[in-house]
Amino acid sequence: MNRLKIREILSRPSQGMPVDVCGWVRSRRESKGIAFIALSDGSCQDTLQLVIPEGSAAFPRLRGCNTGAAVRASGYLRESPGKGQSFEMEVSAMEVFGDADPVTYPLQKKGHTLEFLREIGHLRPRTNTYGAVFRIRNLLARAVHEFFQGRGFVWVHTPIITASDCEGAGDLFSVTTLDHENPPRHEGRIDFSKDFFGARSYLTVSGQLEAEFLSMALGDVYTFGPTFRAENSNTSRHLAEFWMIEPEMAFADLQDDMALAEDFFRFLCRTVAEQGEHELAFLEKQYKTISIAGIRGLGDKPFVRITYTDAVRELGKAAGKFEFPVEWGLDLQSEHERYLTDTVFCGPVIVTDYPRDIKAFYMRLNEDGRTVAAMDVLVPRIGEIMGGSQREERLEVLESRMRAAAISGGSLEWYVDLRRFGSAPHAGFGLGFERLVQYITGMPNIRDVIPCPRAPLSIRF
Ligand code: ATP
Ligand code: MN
Repeated sequence: MNRLKIREILSRPSQGMPVDVCGWVRSRRESKGIAFIALSDGSCQDTLQLVIPEGSAAFPRLRGCNTGAAVRASGYLRESPGKGQSFEMEVSAMEVFGDADPVTYPLQKKGHTLEFLREIGHLRPRTNTYGAVFRIRNLLARAVHEFFQGRGFVWVHTPIITASDCEGAGDLFSVTTLDHENPPRHEGRIDFSKDFFGARSYLTVSGQLEAEFLSMALGDVYTFGPTFRAENSNTSRHLAEFWMIEPEMAFADLQDDMALAEDFFRFLCRTVAEQGEHELAFLEKQYKTISIAGIRGLGDKPFVRITYTDAVRELGKAAGKFEFPVEWGLDLQSEHERYLTDTVFCGPVIVTDYPRDIKAFYMRLNEDGRTVAAMDVLVPRIGEIMGGSQREERLEVLESRMRAAAISGGSLEWYVDLRRFGSAPHAGFGLGFERLVQYITGMPNIRDVIPCPRAPLSIRF
């Protein structure tokens, strides 16, 4: 089919330009013997207005062409006398691929709630809101690669199925082909040596450990792929399946890590403000949770940096406001994170140097012996959006941290090896891709920024 996309048509329209277009009918109305169709093909936020006069050969086709129908139309572009669009299409021929029954098609009227639309996940991409969100998601994914490729980082593909069960990042999903009704047993316990891989295996919670060995050869690397956490947290910012971006830099410390995180985030904000202008304008107008000016502004604003110890002191001043206690040694809860970003600093904040005992074993121990070279990037509304650290590169320190965390070297011997052979300072972080999309689009629930959200007790589509 020799069709033009609406995005192409509207980016360089001209009077009399012949057009062949395909799409779905968003709405249809008739006035003074002329039919008007708003057509969307998903290529951009705008619809194309089709004009079909009563006498036209295409007019009889309208009987089988309701809201939701898929059609092809041929005709000419012309300047529009009406409000709301500068060009419209005069249709000379039309073909209906598939109609949608007006009685049963659920997307008849505007103004469905996001909760209702979640129930019809296979149709919701046809709405303005989800079209905008998924195009922004695509734009951000492209910008992620642009940023890292532009800096000479190598995109590495870390495994989705892993044997490491001790990364400490969350609860794991098991991967098995054993018969659930009647698994093989050995001395009363399930015998995983008979399982597919001959050992227990899981869906990955993070590609970091593998990215580390790749960075110890390729220098600067990044992952961008799906990760899985069986955490039973039914919140508006947790998914059981989400995408993560994890850069890892060789010969880098926490300062370098923070600088990268900040440059990265600001690049993404600037890019999306530029290239996603129509989508963001729609979301801004519709939901009023974001502003393009705000997103563009983030592209220039330096992040506040504060140590965990100072943050706890700051939060202590407002202790009465919180449900959870604030005390040195306890992890920050999301109410604390949001207080820092939304009330104290009014913008993104990087919290550094957390207590050793609440962070993972691989984070580099600071001089004080009590804190580690970790950083969390917090943003308004969402809280933590990135978490990272300088990694422990000293063999003895790493081994003693692993002992303290009761992690047996066994399955991670290869990880310890990296400290035996050419160990070097290195650092990285993980950005949750859906939290980023959520932040940029202003969607209140993370389930609305991924086509098929996976959450406890929910696996439709
Ligand atoms: P949180 O405290 O919010 O649960 P975390 O400390 O478990 O986050 P990390 O293990 O540091 O997070 O993971 C890195 C990043 O991945 C986080 O900063 C966040 O953006 C994202 N992330 C973590 N868990 C989830 C989840 N369940 N759903 C979506 N994104 C997540
Ligand atoms: Mn978590």
